[in-house]
Amino acid sequence: MDNTILAIDNIFKAFPVNAGPGKTVHARAVDGVSLTVAKGEVVGLVGESGCGKSTLGRLALGLLLPTAGKVYFQGKDIGALAKEDLRALRREMQIIFQDPFASLNPRMRVRDIVTEPLVIHKLAGSRELDERAAAILARVGLSADTLMRYPHEFSGGQRQRIGIARALASGPSFIVADEPVSALDVSVQAQIINLLGDLQKDLGLSLLFIAHDLNVVRHFSDRVAVMYLGKIVEIAPAEEIYTKPSHPYTEALLADIPVPDPTVKRKHILLKGDIPSPTQVPPGCRFHTRCIYRFEPCDKVVPKTTDLGNGHFVDCHLRG
Ligand code: SF4
Repeated sequence: MDNTILAIDNIFKAFPVNAGPGKTVHARAVDGVSLTVAKGEVVGLVGESGCGKSTLGRLALGLLLPTAGKVYFQGKDIGALAKEDLRALRREMQIIFQDPFASLNPRMRVRDIVTEPLVIHKLAGSRELDERAAAILARVGLSADTLMRYPHEFSGGQRQRIGIARALASGPSFIVADEPVSALDVSVQAQIINLLGDLQKDLGLSLLFIAHDLNVVRHFSDRVAVMYLGKIVEIAPAEEIYTKPSHPYTEALLADIPVPDPTVKRKHILLKGDIPSPTQVPPGCRFHTRCIYRFEPCDKVVPKTTDLGNGHFVDCHLRG
């Protein structure tokens, strides 16, 4: 039986960008990505800011329409669904946003924020809402006395718990967590990661967990995909990404993470310069402008995807 809940099939998303009087260029935010998420699976999606990972998350949920390619959720092509059908499917697909300060309506009480999905999807009558809101808030570690308060009365970590409660309210099976801890203090990040890990296990959720730091997704991802300038350049079971990284970009991202085992030596590779603009994607391997290993074909020939076995795939001439 097919266990796939989400299948992204060769998807592209380009945004028009004003490049001066009468001139428009296109930013290739997502540039030919295929990715699956299985039922109950956590896929970590990692890369620097501007690599297209948040755009990919929104495409996965049908919040953005692709320029080309398809997204299938529970086997249905979400781009071909009628508005009403997509709306009904959205009950199953939710998002946790990065910024718990901007993502909660400051004029709404916590009760109304977390029960909004129940009202939109007609999942509860007005008499049940208080009870349902209190139960969802308890699930994320907040007491019922928060119900009638407003978002500004809470800390960043508490606000993110409210955002998680809202995402859980409609009983989704798939959640995109879009950098859910990057706006939080380091001391609070671990609490929110642990909460998400517990909820994922208890509720059997499928999760696309977006982060710019490989360390953040390490502990509860089943697989990790590394994205660079609109493309997934490496994907593997989580432990394999950390122990046998095969793309120079993954190696460079890992070089920033301290190794707990002193017997393990990791090459220290500095990532030089910034990620190029998606309006000017370099030819050949898109990482060649920053790669310390680049050689003859790298600036001309696009590397093919190489299957290293065990679900490990990489786009690099060194492995092809
Ligand atoms: Fe570096 Fe070449 Fe591999 Fe690209 S294909 S990552 S430039 S070695």
